[in-house]
Amino acid sequence: MAKYEQPEIKIFHGNKKGLSLLIFGAIHGDEVCGPFSIKKIIKDIESKRIIIEKGTIVLVPICNPIAYKKRMRFVEENLNRVFKTWSNSNSYEKKLANSLTLLVKNCDIFLDIHSMEAKSVPMTFIDSPNKSNVSFSRILGANYSIEGWPELYRKNGQGISSYDTMAYAEKHSKKCAVIECGQHKDINSKKVAYQTIINTLRHFGFIDGKVKSKKLSEIRMKKLFIKENKKDFLIKNWKNFDSFKKGDILASKSDGKKIIAAFNGVIIFPNEKAKVGTEWFYLGTIKQ
Ligand SMILES: [Zn+2]
Repeated sequence: MAKYEQPEIKIFHGNKKGLSLLIFGAIHGDEVCGPFSIKKIIKDIESKRIIIEKGTIVLVPICNPIAYKKRMRFVEENLNRVFKTWSNSNSYEKKLANSLTLLVKNCDIFLDIHSMEAKSVPMTFIDSPNKSNVSFSRILGANYSIEGWPELYRKNGQGISSYDTMAYAEKHSKKCAVIECGQHKDINSKKVAYQTIINTLRHFGFIDGKVKSKKLSEIRMKKLFIKENKKDFLIKNWKNFDSFKKGDILASKSDGKKIIAAFNGVIIFPNEKAKVGTEWFYLGTIKQ
Protein backbone atom coordinates (compact mmCIF):
# COMPACT_ATOMS: atom_id res chain seq x y z
CA MET A 1 0.00 0.00 0.00
CA ALA A 2 1.12 3.57 -0.69
CA LYS A 3 2.66 5.61 2.09
CA TYR A 4 0.08 7.67 3.99
CA GLU A 5 0.11 11.44 3.91
CA GLN A 6 -2.59 13.43 5.67
CA PRO A 7 -4.18 16.46 3.94
CA GLU A 8 -3.46 19.85 5.49
CA ILE A 9 -6.45 21.56 7.08
CA LYS A 10 -6.83 25.29 7.85
CA ILE A 11 -9.54 26.53 10.20
CA PHE A 12 -10.62 30.16 10.63
CA HIS A 13 -13.18 31.56 13.05
CA GLY A 14 -15.22 34.69 12.48
CA ASN A 15 -15.87 37.45 14.99
CA LYS A 16 -19.31 36.05 15.74
CA LYS A 17 -20.66 32.53 16.02
CA GLY A 18 -22.35 31.06 12.96
CA LEU A 19 -22.52 28.16 10.55
CA SER A 20 -19.47 26.22 9.46
CA LEU A 21 -18.36 26.04 5.83
CA LEU A 22 -16.06 23.32 4.48
CA ILE A 23 -14.24 23.68 1.14
CA PHE A 24 -12.34 20.88 -0.63
CA GLY A 25 -9.79 21.12 -3.45
CA ALA A 26 -7.96 18.35 -5.35
CA ILE A 27 -10.16 15.41 -4.46
CA HIS A 28 -8.58 14.46 -7.79
CA GLY A 29 -4.81 15.00 -7.82
CA ASP A 30 -4.69 16.30 -11.41
CA GLU A 31 -6.97 19.28 -10.68
CA VAL A 32 -5.14 22.47 -9.72
CA CYS A 33 -7.84 25.18 -9.61
CA GLY A 34 -9.11 24.09 -6.16
CA PRO A 35 -5.68 24.16 -4.43
CA PHE A 36 -4.79 27.47 -6.15
CA SER A 37 -7.99 29.28 -5.18
CA ILE A 38 -8.21 27.88 -1.64
CA LYS A 39 -4.57 28.80 -0.91
CA LYS A 40 -5.29 32.29 -2.25
CA ILE A 41 -8.25 32.60 0.14
CA ILE A 42 -6.05 31.41 3.04
CA LYS A 43 -3.58 34.21 2.22
CA ASP A 44 -6.46 36.71 1.94
CA ILE A 45 -7.71 35.74 5.40
CA GLU A 46 -4.27 35.61 7.03
CA SER A 47 -3.34 39.03 5.63
CA LYS A 48 -6.78 40.39 6.65
CA ARG A 49 -7.67 41.31 3.06
CA ILE A 50 -10.76 39.24 3.81
CA ILE A 51 -12.45 39.52 7.19
CA ILE A 52 -14.59 36.62 8.36
CA GLU A 53 -17.61 38.25 10.00
CA LYS A 54 -19.12 35.13 11.49
CA GLY A 55 -19.01 31.35 11.58
CA THR A 56 -16.18 28.92 10.95
CA ILE A 57 -14.38 28.15 7.70
CA VAL A 58 -12.57 24.86 7.24
CA LEU A 59 -10.30 24.73 4.19
CA VAL A 60 -8.63 21.67 2.68
CA PRO A 61 -6.71 22.88 -0.39
CA ILE A 62 -5.39 19.43 -1.33
CA CYS A 63 -7.53 16.44 -0.37
CA ASN A 64 -5.27 13.89 -2.07
CA PRO A 65 -1.70 15.14 -1.33
CA ILE A 66 0.30 12.24 -2.78
CA ALA A 67 -1.68 12.16 -6.05
CA TYR A 68 -1.44 15.97 -6.25
CA LYS A 69 2.36 15.93 -5.98
CA LYS A 70 2.45 13.57 -8.95
CA ARG A 71 -0.41 15.41 -10.73
CA MET A 72 -2.16 12.07 -10.95
CA ARG A 73 -5.90 11.63 -10.61
CA PHE A 74 -5.40 9.20 -7.71
CA VAL A 75 -2.79 6.88 -6.20
CA GLU A 76 -4.68 3.60 -5.80
CA GLU A 77 -8.34 4.34 -6.53
CA ASN A 78 -10.65 7.26 -7.34
CA LEU A 79 -11.30 9.07 -4.03
CA ASN A 80 -14.62 10.30 -5.44
CA ARG A 81 -15.82 6.71 -5.80
CA VAL A 82 -14.84 5.57 -2.30
CA PHE A 83 -16.00 8.59 -0.30
CA LYS A 84 -17.48 6.93 2.80
CA THR A 85 -16.11 5.51 6.05
CA TRP A 86 -14.30 2.19 5.76
CA SER A 87 -13.62 -0.27 8.58
CA ASN A 88 -11.06 -1.95 6.35
CA SER A 89 -9.29 0.95 4.67
CA ASN A 90 -7.04 -1.06 2.38
CA SER A 91 -6.00 1.77 0.07
CA TYR A 92 -4.54 5.26 0.42
CA GLU A 93 -7.76 6.84 -0.85
CA LYS A 94 -9.93 4.86 1.58
CA LYS A 95 -7.73 6.12 4.43
CA LEU A 96 -8.16 9.68 3.12
CA ALA A 97 -11.93 9.11 2.91
CA ASN A 98 -12.00 8.06 6.57
CA SER A 99 -10.60 11.40 7.70
CA LEU A 100 -12.26 13.64 5.08
CA THR A 101 -15.77 12.24 5.64
CA LEU A 102 -15.47 13.28 9.28
CA LEU A 103 -15.00 16.90 8.18
CA VAL A 104 -18.08 16.73 5.95
CA LYS A 105 -20.11 15.20 8.77
CA ASN A 106 -19.18 18.10 11.07
CA CYS A 107 -19.88 21.02 8.70
CA ASP A 108 -23.13 22.82 7.81
CA ILE A 109 -22.24 23.87 4.26
CA PHE A 110 -19.94 22.03 1.87
CA LEU A 111 -18.32 23.14 -1.39
CA ASP A 112 -16.23 20.77 -3.53
CA ILE A 113 -14.08 22.30 -6.30
CA HIS A 114 -13.12 20.30 -9.42
CA SER A 115 -11.97 20.73 -13.02
CA MET A 116 -12.46 18.56 -16.10
CA GLU A 117 -10.38 16.68 -18.65
CA ALA A 118 -12.40 18.07 -21.59
CA LYS A 119 -12.56 21.70 -22.66
CA SER A 120 -15.64 23.10 -20.95
CA VAL A 121 -17.37 26.12 -19.49
CA PRO A 122 -17.95 26.00 -15.71
CA MET A 123 -20.81 23.73 -14.70
CA THR A 124 -22.36 22.23 -11.62
CA PHE A 125 -24.15 18.92 -11.02
CA ILE A 126 -27.13 18.84 -8.69
CA ASP A 127 -27.93 15.28 -7.63
CA SER A 128 -30.72 16.14 -5.19
CA PRO A 129 -32.28 19.37 -6.37
CA ASN A 130 -33.85 20.55 -3.11
CA LYS A 131 -34.47 24.26 -2.58
CA SER A 132 -31.28 25.05 -0.70
CA ASN A 133 -28.97 23.15 -3.09
CA VAL A 134 -30.60 24.76 -6.14
CA SER A 135 -30.19 28.26 -4.69
CA PHE A 136 -26.58 27.41 -3.72
CA SER A 137 -25.89 26.22 -7.30
CA ARG A 138 -27.16 29.54 -8.72
CA ILE A 139 -24.55 31.66 -6.94
CA LEU A 140 -21.46 29.55 -7.80
CA GLY A 141 -20.77 31.35 -11.08
CA ALA A 142 -21.25 28.31 -13.33
CA ASN A 143 -22.78 28.64 -16.82
CA TYR A 144 -24.78 25.41 -16.59
CA SER A 145 -26.29 23.25 -13.90
CA ILE A 146 -27.20 19.66 -14.65
CA GLU A 147 -29.90 17.83 -12.72
CA GLY A 148 -31.25 14.33 -12.98
CA TRP A 149 -27.99 12.39 -13.40
CA PRO A 150 -28.73 9.69 -10.76
CA GLU A 151 -32.34 9.17 -11.95
CA LEU A 152 -31.17 8.73 -15.53
CA TYR A 153 -28.88 5.88 -14.55
CA ARG A 154 -31.52 4.30 -12.35
CA LYS A 155 -33.99 4.47 -15.28
CA ASN A 156 -31.43 2.78 -17.50
CA GLY A 157 -31.15 -0.02 -14.98
CA GLN A 158 -27.53 0.83 -14.25
CA GLY A 159 -26.39 1.51 -10.74
CA ILE A 160 -24.37 4.67 -10.39
CA SER A 161 -21.56 4.57 -7.90
CA SER A 162 -22.85 6.87 -5.20
CA TYR A 163 -19.78 7.03 -2.98
CA ASP A 164 -18.84 10.54 -4.03
CA THR A 165 -18.53 13.67 -1.91
CA MET A 166 -21.97 15.05 -2.85
CA ALA A 167 -23.78 11.77 -2.12
CA TYR A 168 -22.09 11.66 1.28
CA ALA A 169 -22.96 15.30 2.06
CA GLU A 170 -26.56 14.88 0.91
CA LYS A 171 -26.95 11.74 2.98
CA HIS A 172 -25.95 13.82 5.99
CA SER A 173 -28.37 16.65 5.01
CA LYS A 174 -25.69 19.25 4.31
CA LYS A 175 -26.17 22.27 2.09
CA CYS A 176 -23.75 21.31 -0.65
CA ALA A 177 -22.49 22.12 -4.13
CA VAL A 178 -19.86 20.84 -6.52
CA ILE A 179 -18.40 22.95 -9.32
CA GLU A 180 -16.42 21.87 -12.37
CA CYS A 181 -14.48 25.08 -13.09
CA GLY A 182 -13.36 24.24 -16.65
CA GLN A 183 -10.52 22.25 -18.16
CA HIS A 184 -7.66 21.18 -15.83
CA LYS A 185 -5.08 23.36 -17.59
CA ASP A 186 -7.31 26.34 -18.41
CA ILE A 187 -5.98 29.40 -16.52
CA ASN A 188 -9.54 30.71 -16.31
CA SER A 189 -10.57 27.73 -14.15
CA LYS A 190 -8.49 29.22 -11.30
CA LYS A 191 -10.34 32.55 -11.55
CA VAL A 192 -13.67 30.73 -11.67
CA ALA A 193 -12.76 28.69 -8.57
CA TYR A 194 -11.66 31.78 -6.63
CA GLN A 195 -14.85 33.69 -7.51
CA THR A 196 -16.92 30.63 -6.54
CA ILE A 197 -15.40 30.70 -3.06
CA ILE A 198 -15.94 34.46 -2.70
CA ASN A 199 -19.56 34.07 -3.86
CA THR A 200 -20.13 31.24 -1.38
CA LEU A 201 -18.65 33.26 1.50
CA ARG A 202 -20.89 36.21 0.56
CA HIS A 203 -24.04 34.19 -0.12
CA PHE A 204 -23.98 32.62 3.34
CA GLY A 205 -22.89 35.85 5.07
CA PHE A 206 -19.38 34.75 6.16
CA ILE A 207 -18.03 37.93 4.56
CA ASP A 208 -19.62 41.17 3.39
CA GLY A 209 -20.32 41.97 -0.23
CA LYS A 210 -22.55 41.11 -3.15
CA VAL A 211 -22.46 37.81 -5.04
CA LYS A 212 -21.15 38.14 -8.63
CA SER A 213 -22.59 35.35 -10.72
CA LYS A 214 -23.72 34.97 -14.30
CA LYS A 215 -26.99 33.69 -15.64
CA LEU A 216 -27.22 29.96 -15.07
CA SER A 217 -28.81 27.69 -17.69
CA GLU A 218 -30.48 24.89 -15.78
CA ILE A 219 -30.53 21.59 -17.60
CA ARG A 220 -32.48 18.49 -16.72
CA MET A 221 -31.05 15.21 -18.04
CA LYS A 222 -33.66 13.24 -19.99
CA LYS A 223 -32.06 10.47 -21.95
CA LEU A 224 -28.84 8.51 -22.23
CA PHE A 225 -27.70 6.80 -25.41
CA ILE A 226 -25.21 3.95 -25.22
CA LYS A 227 -23.11 3.18 -28.29
CA GLU A 228 -24.27 -0.24 -29.47
CA ASN A 229 -22.17 -0.72 -32.57
CA LYS A 230 -18.90 0.81 -33.65
CA LYS A 231 -20.60 1.91 -36.89
CA ASP A 232 -23.15 4.05 -34.99
CA PHE A 233 -22.33 7.68 -35.72
CA LEU A 234 -23.39 11.21 -34.76
CA ILE A 235 -25.02 13.12 -37.62
CA LYS A 236 -22.77 16.11 -37.01
CA ASN A 237 -19.85 17.16 -34.88
CA TRP A 238 -22.04 17.98 -31.87
CA LYS A 239 -20.45 20.11 -29.14
CA ASN A 240 -21.48 19.96 -25.51
CA PHE A 241 -24.73 21.94 -24.90
CA ASP A 242 -25.52 22.35 -28.65
CA SER A 243 -29.27 22.75 -28.98
CA PHE A 244 -31.61 20.75 -31.24
CA LYS A 245 -35.30 20.91 -32.16
CA LYS A 246 -37.95 18.22 -31.94
CA GLY A 247 -37.73 16.17 -35.15
CA ASP A 248 -34.02 16.87 -35.78
CA ILE A 249 -31.90 13.86 -36.73
CA LEU A 250 -29.20 13.47 -34.05
CA ALA A 251 -27.39 10.26 -34.92
CA SER A 252 -27.48 7.22 -37.13
CA LYS A 253 -27.34 3.56 -36.13
CA SER A 254 -25.25 0.93 -37.89
CA ASP A 255 -28.41 -0.49 -39.56
CA GLY A 256 -29.26 2.92 -41.03
CA LYS A 257 -31.99 3.76 -38.50
CA LYS A 258 -31.92 7.40 -37.41
CA ILE A 259 -32.14 8.70 -33.86
CA ILE A 260 -34.65 11.55 -34.01
CA ALA A 261 -35.19 14.12 -31.25
CA ALA A 262 -38.54 13.67 -29.51
CA PHE A 263 -38.32 17.10 -27.87
CA ASN A 264 -36.49 20.45 -28.04
CA GLY A 265 -33.31 20.26 -26.00
CA VAL A 266 -29.53 20.16 -25.77
CA ILE A 267 -26.89 17.50 -26.40
CA ILE A 268 -24.74 16.73 -23.36
CA PHE A 269 -21.24 15.18 -23.38
CA PRO A 270 -21.33 13.81 -26.95
CA ASN A 271 -18.50 11.32 -27.35
CA GLU A 272 -18.09 9.99 -30.89
CA LYS A 273 -15.08 7.97 -29.72
CA ALA A 274 -17.14 6.12 -27.08
CA LYS A 275 -16.43 2.39 -26.95
CA VAL A 276 -19.28 -0.01 -27.72
CA GLY A 277 -21.35 -0.50 -24.56
CA THR A 278 -20.41 2.88 -23.04
CA GLU A 279 -22.03 6.35 -22.87
CA TRP A 280 -22.33 7.89 -26.34
CA PHE A 281 -24.34 11.07 -25.61
CA TYR A 282 -27.08 12.43 -23.39
CA LEU A 283 -30.10 14.61 -24.12
CA GLY A 284 -31.45 17.21 -21.75
CA THR A 285 -33.97 20.02 -21.65
CA ILE A 286 -33.37 23.57 -20.47
CA LYS A 287 -35.64 24.40 -17.54
CA GLN A 288 -37.71 27.53 -18.15
ZN1 LIG B 1 -12.57 16.02 -10.17
